[in-house]
Amino acid sequence: MSRKFVRAIFPGSFDPITNGHLDVIGRGIKIFDELIVAVGRSPIKDQLFTPEERMEMIAELTADMPGVSVESFDGLTVEYAAKKKADVILRGLRSLTDVQYEFKLAMTNRAVTGIETVFVMTSEQYGFTSSTLIRQVASLGGDVSRLIPKSIYNRLQKRLKK
Ligand code: ADP
Repeated sequence: MSRKFVRAIFPGSFDPITNGHLDVIGRGIKIFDELIVAVGRSPIKDQLFTPEERMEMIAELTADMPGVSVESFDGLTVEYAAKKKADVILRGLRSLTDVQYEFKLAMTNRAVTGIETVFVMTSEQYGFTSSTLIRQVASLGGDVSRLIPKSIYNRLQKRLKK
């Protein structure tokens, strides 16, 4: 019997994409047949890049990953997942704090539509990497070059100079 084709979405803000996100994408595509990285368009606090810029950066970095595509969405993640006929939502875990928040989110999403969430744990070296902290540290002149790809680092520097 052949295995069912499994499509996942990986929703997030990705402002900007980090090595931690890329790690999750790399692990996710080994499990699923298709992975849609879905950039949320709802306004986030301290937004640095527009949804289009965020998508462009992700597309560049995942261009050589078969099965991975990038889109953006408005509104509820579960509605977007249903529209895309996604089987699961993929999320990354860094710490116990993430577990607490993600647990509630996954439970709510399952209660609303029945969709399952699958979690993957990041590499230890990215366990403390977050887009929010990267934006904050970089804006104060800190060196975040080990936490994000070079192309993102360059764009971040350029944006912060403005
Ligand atoms: P959101 O605003 O939805 O949390 P993020 O872009 O911050 O969007 O994160 C999207 C997903 O990626 C979340 O599941 C988050 O836990 C996960 N994630 C973010 N950074 C990392 C990391 N360094 N390692 C593993 N997962 C991560």
